[in-house]
Amino acid sequence: MLKVGLTGGIGSGKSEVSARLAAHGAVVIDADRIAREVVEPGTPGLAAVVAEFGEGVLLPDGGMDREKVGEIVFADPDRLAALNAIVHPLVGERMQELMDAAPDDAIVVYDVPLLVENDLAALYDVVVVVDAPVETQVARLTGRRGMTEDAARARIAAQATRERRRAAADLVLDNSGSLADLRAAVDALWTDLRRRAGQITTT
Ligand code: ADP
Repeated sequence: MLKVGLTGGIGSGKSEVSARLAAHGAVVIDADRIAREVVEPGTPGLAAVVAEFGEGVLLPDGGMDREKVGEIVFADPDRLAALNAIVHPLVGERMQELMDAAPDDAIVVYDVPLLVENDLAALYDVVVVVDAPVETQVARLTGRRGMTEDAARARIAAQATRERRRAAADLVLDNSGSLADLRAAVDALWTDLRRRAGQITTT
């Protein structure tokens, strides 16, 4: 199994890349998505969150009020630690299940937005960084995603710099061009990853 850590700044095109890798046959593990799944209505995870934070963190439909929980934990590191103590082990368990279900020669791609910020490069065989100029990130976020320019710049400024992210990369995927360029780059990346995973042995 080849463990690939995929990261990139917001609006860099990371979701496009992970979708195309999944289409090629990568097992994509999206930690943010799993973190939402483990506290869906009816889960033991949500029951634990309610036991810790009270019924006030529930929406009328029974789901978790993420904004409310965010306000609580943002203001108090102890509360954040309590939330993480519930959610992190559940996310870890679910990731392990997905990995156990993958074939031995699988290429497992972990979609980790804050890989560099949280210093997680050592967990992966290969770290792939999706890279785009800041102005391109801003244009993408204010375009189809409808963010204001100020909000986009604030989100980008809160993340690692492009230089720091690139320094942590084994492979950099340039996404400063068109979507067609990006697809071609991902296809070449896939071949490289298959070689590294031992799926291709011919030279
Ligand atoms: P991320 O997951 O890194 O935040 P996304 O993959 O969601 O970024 O990309 C942000 C937006 O930019 C999306 O609407 C996506 O379709 C678009 N996008 C990504 N790459 C390109 C590109 N090379 N050309 C044009 N639009 C792009």
